[in-house]
Amino acid sequence: MTTDNSPKRQVSIALPSTGDDEWKAVREPLSNGWLTQGPKVAQFEKNFAGRHEVTHAIATSSCTTGLHLILSAMGIGPGDEVIVPAFTWVSTANVVLYCGATPVLADVDPHTYNVTAETIRPRITVRTKAIVVVHLFGLCADIESIKKVAGDLPIIEDAACAIGSSYFGKPAGGLGLAAAFSFHPRKIVTTGEGGMVTTQSDVLAEKMVQLRNHGASISEEQRHRGPQPYLLADFNLIGFNYRLTDVQAAIGIVQLEKLEHFIKERNHWADFYQRELKEIEWLRVPAVPPGYGHGWQSFVCWVGETKLRQSRNELMALLQKKGISTRPGTHAIHQLGVYRERFGFVPEDYPVARDCEKFSMAIPLHNRMSDEDYRYVISVLKSVRY
Ligand SMILES: *Cc1c(COP(=O)(O)O)cnc(C)c1O
Repeated sequence: MTTDNSPKRQVSIALPSTGDDEWKAVREPLSNGWLTQGPKVAQFEKNFAGRHEVTHAIATSSCTTGLHLILSAMGIGPGDEVIVPAFTWVSTANVVLYCGATPVLADVDPHTYNVTAETIRPRITVRTKAIVVVHLFGLCADIESIKKVAGDLPIIEDAACAIGSSYFGKPAGGLGLAAAFSFHPRKIVTTGEGGMVTTQSDVLAEKMVQLRNHGASISEEQRHRGPQPYLLADFNLIGFNYRLTDVQAAIGIVQLEKLEHFIKERNHWADFYQRELKEIEWLRVPAVPPGYGHGWQSFVCWVGETKLRQSRNELMALLQKKGISTRPGTHAIHQLGVYRERFGFVPEDYPVARDCEKFSMAIPLHNRMSDEDYRYVISVLKSVRY
């Protein structure tokens, strides 16, 4: 590549906001030798539960393992159906398959990118055991209207993108029976890999704590700290090793302290994008219905058809040449190989999810961007002949 062609500026789609504070925080577990789940995890869980107004927060190795933990603890298995969105990250649906159950897809709304009461209602059968809603990109699903069609069916929140998001003043994570959050570096708060499950149910929490640690009836910490060194755990359940480490939790504690700042800053720049980009006729900025506190994990636009008939992909390639990273919003699950083959799906089965995959475009928004970066993205988008 010649220097003449290289762009003035490089703006990445996401960058984790970690630095000296996180670096200092890992000293303690690394020095005292408590590396896996221990006091730091306990502290992280306590802080997380407080922030999300729930009685239980249980740290896991990822959001995916957290979702699996929830469904396992609920006893979901072969013959059961679980409704999941047709437009989401692949693991929302995969965890249902992990349990030997059947994921039943519900299409999404093209403005919020989320499932709705209307898309869920026709998918409910006598076999339905749970409904997984995703708060995609940091915007909560419309829980109240979904609860009306769900009746007694439990609602699980895939809150991977929704740390700090709220629904009519209530934080994500306490809106259904249980929720799972992600601390992957693409999310707002990160521990490298990691997750957190929240619930208000004591019974479910107890089961999940056990399943997280191989099904053991007592924890390693109880064993090490307790006065009875001869104690061995009993295993009455087949569990998993889905623990978070104390090194990761030490980072998570520091990151969580910065959450309000992260969310505030993201909202500031999302408003700026909304104001500046709305004049572009071929671009639709993301909707924020009244009453919703958006966390802006991603700023996902809709790229319409234009007179020049360029495709979104051509636009994304052009932006990449100008140093601006973009990504399609996420996947239409029914178009992924595993699901196509197993269930015989065709693209028309979930037309909105199909179009969301084809026309959505996330543009850079994260806490390591400068004023100039945002202005650069806006000026390039406004100048594009599309
Ligand atoms: C990122 C993401 C996940 C997976 O989170 P991990 O922590 O990487 O397992 C699941 N669902 C949604 C909607 C996501 O965005």
